[in-house]
Amino acid sequence: MLLKCGSDCDGVLAQFREPFARFLVGKGYADPELLCCETLPLYGLHHSPHVHFDTWEDELRATIEFGREIGYRHLPVIDGAREGVRYLASRGALVYPVTRRIHSDDNYEKTLQETRDWLREHFGEDVQEPHLVRNGDNKATFCKERELGVFIEDNPDEAKGIAEQCPDTLVVLMDRDYNRTHEILPANVQRGYGWIDSIRTIGRRFGVMV
Ligand SMILES: [Mg+2]
Repeated sequence: MLLKCGSDCDGVLAQFREPFARFLVGKGYADPELLCCETLPLYGLHHSPHVHFDTWEDELRATIEFGREIGYRHLPVIDGAREGVRYLASRGALVYPVTRRIHSDDNYEKTLQETRDWLREHFGEDVQEPHLVRNGDNKATFCKERELGVFIEDNPDEAKGIAEQCPDTLVVLMDRDYNRTHEILPANVQRGYGWIDSIRTIGRRFGVMV
């Protein structure tokens, strides 16, 4: 059986939180303490006492500004991601990068192209054409259209949304300090402790063994 595997980008393939926090400090939107004293949350940086804006809307604006001024070209790769994706591809799996990267409508193409270039540079032919989720749409739509058997995600809300709308899809929640929620997640969400463990989890379900 051909395994089709969706993979979120930021937090699964690419490191985003640290470069974004450095951007906030560089712009004077946050104190340098943000980088050394706190575990960076997935979202909600505006709650930090070291960040100088107070609302989610301000944080969204800063994220869009990051996309415009810094872009996604220079993000580091998450540990183990390159090897994990290569392993899946070597076993015949199709890996679809799917990202919600916050963008404004007028820089959708730029954000998509930067994502495409970054993936080519680091993952070569091991990944399929990336899908950038448009504002107002969601990842579950793509998951259903492509009939993805697996989706690897680090955002617990996204993981839950995909799992609920795609009950036959195994959603691997890549363990991060910011996603250890006490909420009971749907039965088709399983936590993966890094890429190796995530592939083992996929292997137990689909027979793609490490
Ligand atoms: Mg993510």
